[in-house]
Amino acid sequence: MSQVELFDDKQVVDRDYDNPMVVLYGKGPNEKCKTCDNLIQIQPGQNKYYKCELRGITHGPGTDHRVNYRACAMYKKER
Ligand code: SF4
Repeated sequence: MSQVELFDDKQVVDRDYDNPMVVLYGKGPNEKCKTCDNLIQIQPGQNKYYKCELRGITHGPGTDHRVNYRACAMYKKER
């Protein structure tokens, strides 16, 4: 009886590409988005959301941005 492999352990998932901006522009410095000047916080009600200004901002969750994403090449050091 053959064994079915559910996961190929040779496949390495590069979490840096979870950030759609890294997919678009490539990796930036070894930083997180939370230290980038392009990351903004919005608070329309009781909840806070983070958005990358360069990614485009909608009123929906599709453009919510994780502060711990790997920085992209458009990274701008916080002043
Ligand atoms: S521009 Fe800044 S906040 Fe936006 S994805 Fe790149 S590093 Fe992150």
